Amino acid sequence: MTTKQLFAANALLPTGWARDVLVAWDGAGRITHVAADSAAPAGTPVAPGPLIPGMPNLHSHAFQRAFAGLTEYRAQSQDSFWSWRNLMYRFAARITPESLESIATWLYIEMLEAGYTSVCEFHYVHHSPDGTPYADDATLSLALLRAAQRAGIGITLLPVLYQTSGFGAKPPRADQARFIRSTDSMLSLLERLATATQALGANLGLAPHSLRAVPPDSLTAAVQGLTALNPQAPIHIHIAEQTQEVEDCIAWSGQRPVQWLLDHAPVDKRWCLVHATHMTPQEYADAAATGAVAGICPTTEANLGDGIFDMPLWLQHGGRWGVGSDSHACVNAAEELLMLEYGQRLSLRQRNVLATAAQPEVATAMTLQAVQGGSQASGRAIGGLAVGQQADMVALDAQHVALAGLPAHSMLSAHVFGSHRTSAIASLWVAGAQRVAQGRHVLHDSAAQAFVAARSMTIAAG
Ligand code: ZN
Repeated sequence: MTTKQLFAANALLPTGWARDVLVAWDGAGRITHVAADSAAPAGTPVAPGPLIPGMPNLHSHAFQRAFAGLTEYRAQSQDSFWSWRNLMYRFAARITPESLESIATWLYIEMLEAGYTSVCEFHYVHHSPDGTPYADDATLSLALLRAAQRAGIGITLLPVLYQTSGFGAKPPRADQARFIRSTDSMLSLLERLATATQALGANLGLAPHSLRAVPPDSLTAAVQGLTALNPQAPIHIHIAEQTQEVEDCIAWSGQRPVQWLLDHAPVDKRWCLVHATHMTPQEYADAAATGAVAGICPTTEANLGDGIFDMPLWLQHGGRWGVGSDSHACVNAAEELLMLEYGQRLSLRQRNVLATAAQPEVATAMTLQAVQGGSQASGRAIGGLAVGQQADMVALDAQHVALAGLPAHSMLSAHVFGSHRTSAIASLWVAGAQRVAQGRHVLHDSAAQAFVAARSMTIAAG
């Protein structure tokens, strides 16, 4: 197998910052060698600035990228997540296989240019607008896989099980028809997609949408079916995003959603609890103890007015976490970290809340933890610059005005907290293949054009 290598004067390894690091990987893109205090062998490419691990994006609804910016106006006396959702459903009704592929291709390119090297796609629009399955039932899933392949981003595809409109098996609404599947139909889809994902080096899991959308029997059967297919496959669920959802769950079962889930499902390291925003201190302790990852989407949670996740409490219990761009109001790995830390600062009136004793630079501590959690939630070996992990790497631009002349250990902090919505990312590699050079993806212009056309068409179809 061909080996490739890269030298970086400063690199963020799982143990922290190291100097003069040589990274080598094999033809499959797996890291075979990482050594600090090395000399660069003649002819070895040199990173243009600090080398950091690529960030896994653990929560994405790709089609919503084309919807960003369209709901930032007041439509009723008090707008909420639920009024936003009505508008989003109207938009979802107009997505076609072609438009989804164009939107997702551009989105994944944006992700790469913004420091994400892989994505967990929580995919719930399955059928044609009236709810009839496409001739090939996997049409929209395959459109997403093609988009990921074209962009060159790693992907964990999570087809979504959606069956009811509310707790107590409330029948679905007409505008949810595109999402609805029986458990058997979901398991057939997963079988169909197992080969396609494997061929691409992608991973396949399952996303029971939420407790309001999946009745208990279906949840049990779907998780069992998935486990029979692959005992390691990841499982993601939206869990306690809205206080209304918590109240409805209590009215239905006498329990809060996280409490109910932990009592009724085999939650463990395979699980990612997305938007576990509204938990009691006991739920924080119990959920962290399962080893599940908390999927936090700071900019979307801010955009939708969800609430603030209690990071210090989660970390106190050893909780694992990662970040997602979810609705794509923002697609920028650094900005998710910034928003997460700022939410904690605002609510606690403290600074550097997420720094640790081992990593006092808050951006360093957050990056290492979010990469670990994101890797676990993706079910892929993308956990950082270490032997055996995939060579998913980002080189910052040491000449960018936000970074130039700073001490190396402050450059990541400047990238996260001081780059003022510009990007200090120079290069990015996925499985050792360079996808971004001088800040741009090779398909940037053509994919942007196709995205704008697809978005205009989707808006005009309304
Ligand atoms: Zn979501």
